[in-house]
Order: sequence, then structure tokens, then C-alpha cells
Amino acid sequence: MSRSTHADWKQLAAELKIEGRAFIDGAYRHADDERRFDCVNPATGAKLADIAHCGEADVNKAVKAARRAFESGVWSSLPPIKRGGILKRFAALIREHADELALLETLDAGKPIGDTTSVDVPAAAHCVEWYAESIDKIGGEVAPVDPKLVGLVTREPVGVVAAVVPWNFPILMASWKFGPALAAGNAVIVKPSEKSPLTAIRVAALAKEAGIPDGIFQVLPGPGEVGKALALHMGVDCVAFTGSTAVGKLIAGYAAQSNLKRVWLELGGKSPNIILPDCPDLAQAARSAAGAIFYNMGEVCTAGSRVLVHSAIKERFLAELQAAAARYYPGDPLDPATSMGAIVDGIQHKKVLGYIDKGVSEGASLLLGGKAAHADKGLFIEPTVFDCPRPDLAICREEIFGPVLSVITFDDVEEAIRIANDTEYGLAAAVWTANVSTAHQVSRRLRAGTVWVNCYDEGGDMNFPFGGYKQSGNGRDKSLHALEKYTELKSTLIKL
Ligand code: NAP
Ligand code: MG
Repeated sequence: MSRSTHADWKQLAAELKIEGRAFIDGAYRHADDERRFDCVNPATGAKLADIAHCGEADVNKAVKAARRAFESGVWSSLPPIKRGGILKRFAALIREHADELALLETLDAGKPIGDTTSVDVPAAAHCVEWYAESIDKIGGEVAPVDPKLVGLVTREPVGVVAAVVPWNFPILMASWKFGPALAAGNAVIVKPSEKSPLTAIRVAALAKEAGIPDGIFQVLPGPGEVGKALALHMGVDCVAFTGSTAVGKLIAGYAAQSNLKRVWLELGGKSPNIILPDCPDLAQAARSAAGAIFYNMGEVCTAGSRVLVHSAIKERFLAELQAAAARYYPGDPLDPATSMGAIVDGIQHKKVLGYIDKGVSEGASLLLGGKAAHADKGLFIEPTVFDCPRPDLAICREEIFGPVLSVITFDDVEEAIRIANDTEYGLAAAVWTANVSTAHQVSRRLRAGTVWVNCYDEGGDMNFPFGGYKQSGNGRDKSLHALEKYTELKSTLIKL
């Protein structure tokens, strides 16, 4: 990154011009009824921009433009090498504007600038490039069939895709949808969270500059109702959603009430991180456990929010954990030295503090943190660790989506597996052991879409599918499997 100091970022922030309009049919536009809402920096309380408050009229306009663009073939019928070339240019433009995008993300969502510059923005660019490169490398099948026939199995774009995305990794979660959906030839409408719309709005212009045709990439900022209108729309063929399990269930219902559009859900989690007594490196496990819950303020769907630790090593582990956790004390997100930033908004801040109170009242012992920090400046919360007497406390079962870790003690591996799987979620899990057989046996029995052994949150690469078992969702983001979500399978039988 060219800007490296706290002062540089502050100066760049002061000079930044922020676009807040929707991007519909190739141009920035105000909402149809000119309504707008404030975009606020959670680290300072300062207003950043006016954002278009889209509504049903804007959804209708965008879907109409998307349908027209999709059906004209300007995108879906491009030779793969051309579509791939445009997407590679799009990825390159994201990289060229990396500082600006990272800064927008940091100001909008309270994420540390060190993270948005090193993870969010480069990973989004990489995602788009990765799918761009996939386009001319995977094809269909010629099925074995009666010799009087030729049987082709091909994949075709599903059509108009709505991507409804959350605020915790705004540009990255959006790119996990629009990367594969655009590569597969669809028209995409992104609905960012009202809490973090800035980067999605900004990249729309880069998509256009890269050569993505009008109507193929659109962005509709606004409240949850915009997502609802998209999910209910008869002209939308697929809704790809990342967010809470509660809203995911609504989305499935909207599809059922309308046109049975394809529904792909990436939802919440309460992921267990199991520390067995033969853990090969307790200090490393503790550092990793701290990162697993305090990275991105704990606003991570795969956050290792439950540590399950064996009673024989508990005291040693907790001492290491508290030392590692204390390093995440929150600071100014614009300071490159900050490892934990601000909570995204007042609603989430209150919700997390409410869970902390609940943990205390339920009888968990507070080992670290437990309070708001820098209350005069913005929405910060100390890294918080609870030692929990039982695994059935609300703080052990419900997704908090904040920097709150619940530690649960067990006495044997069977008990650990039972507690780990005793959840409505199944997004991720981890186990620490020096025994290779235990590693395989336990990881097979953990009901989760991703299992880490002797690590946590590894595998940022695009080639691993990402998603959940149970109520953590269906389908998978990332990897070539994600392309399946944005395509229909067609069998063509030709009589010779
Ligand atoms: P959320 O409240 O469910 O919102 C997600 C998106 O849906 C936002 O754009 C939201 O808009 C929109 N929305 C809200 N109500 C809607 C409705 N009735 N119909 C259609 N859309 C609606 O979730 P969040 O608080 O933004 O994100 C946190 C959740 O996302 C956590 O549960 C986390 O685990 C999950 N998550 C999962 C993954 C994964 O890959 N599995 C990744 C990241 C996050 P507004 O925000 O404007 O209301
Ligand atoms: Mg914001």
C-alpha cells in the first residue's frame, strides 16, 4: 500500500469524495423518490455521506434493465475469453483503487485499515480474477448414450441474480457472489447492507469502466426491504444471500411465495474450537483462538466463538488466551497499528453489550473485558472472555457477532464432539491434537462445512468451498462449486 501511516490515512479520509447513489442501468442515480439516508462512521459518529434509499420503484427499474441486458446476450453470449478479459480488467481496477476502497470500507464499517488493505480489498480483487480465469477452463459433458444420439450436458446462466449481502466483509462477501455470477454470464443486482454500502456503490463504476455492459452489474443501496423486494420479484431468477439465519428463512419464504427462484443461503454460526489435551502447541492454539474471535471485532460468520477446552489443560490455556486476547484492545481503525476497530453500528454495539450482561447474569465468569471502550469517541467493545459453567447458556448457543468468547470445559473427547455438534449451526469447527488419527476421526464427526485442524481461519484461497451445514445455510461460496449456483444444467439430446 502506498499510504502507510495513521496521518496519511487521516488525510486521505479528509479528502475523500464519496458516492452514495444507486447504480442502475449503467449510471449513478438517486432513488426514484429521492429519499436518502445517512452513512455514519462508527468509530467517530461522523456522517460520511447521503445514501440513496432505494425502494420498489428502483428494484423494478433495475430488474427490467437486468432482464433486458441478460436477454440481449451482450454478456452471456460473449466468447468466454472476452468475458474473462473484462472481468480481469475489473479485478485490476479494484487493485488500482485498493487504497480508496480499503479506506471506504474502514470508514463505513469500522474495520481496521491494516485488515481492509491486506485482506478485504485484495481478496475481492483476487476473487473476481479467479472466476474470470475459470471461464474458459471448464466445459460441459458429452454423456454416454445410445449411439444413435449425441447427449450434451451443459451449464447455462440462470439469468438475473440478486446478491443480498451483509456488512461484516462488505466488498468481499459481495465479490463472492458477483464474481462467480458474472463469470457464469448472469446479470447481477447487489443489495449491500444499509450499514456498509460504500464499497459496493464504488465498484459499480469500476465494473462499467472495465467494460461490463449496462444492466449487467447494478447496485441498490437501501434497507432490508430492498432485499425483500428482490427476493419476491418475479423477474429475479436467483437470490444469493449472506446474512443471518432469521433473514435467510424469510428469503426462502419469499422465493416460495413468488417464482421459486433459486435460493442460496450463507448464514450464521457458533463455531466450536476444540482444544484436546494433546494439543501440540498450547500457546499457538491460544493465539489462534484469540484471532478466531477477535479478528474483525468478532463480526465473522466463522468466528470461533466457542472454545471447548479439556479440563487437564484449561488453566494453562486460559493464561495464554488472556495474554493473547488483551492484544486486541480496540483502537482507531485508521491507525495501521490497530488490530481491532469499531463495532459496525449502535444497534450491534447494544446487542453485543446485552449479551455480555446476559453472560454475567447467567453465571458465567468474566475473565477479560466486558465493557465498551473509548465511549467518548465511538462504538468500541473490549475483547471479552467468559468461562462458562455449562454449555447451554445463551452466550454459548446464540450468535453474538461481536468480540465475546465463551469457554466451555470438557473431560473427554466424546463429550467435546457432542457439545460441538449440539447447535443449530454448522458453519465451521476446529480441533487441536497431535494425533493424526484423532484429527481425522474428530474432523469427520464435526457437522460443519469447514473443519480446521491445528489452525483456525486458514485457507483464504479461492479453491475451498465455503458454507454451512444445518441452519448455517446451503450451497457454497468460493471454489468452482460456486459456479453451480449461478447456472442451470441443460441436457440436449440430438438424434443422428
Ligand atoms: P442480516 O440482518 O440478515 O442482513 C443481511 C442482508 O439482508 C443485509 O443486506 C440486510 O439489509 C438484508 N435484509 C434484512 N432484512 C431483509 C429482509 N426481510 N429481506 C431481504 N433482505 C433483508 O445480517 P447482517 O446482520 O447484515 O450480517 C450478519 C449475519 O451474516 C451473521 O449472522 C453472520 O453469521 C452472517 N454471515 C454469514 C456468512 C457466511 O458466509 N455464512 C458470511 C458473513 C456473514 P440491511 O442490513 O440493510 O437491513
Ligand atoms: Mg456504515
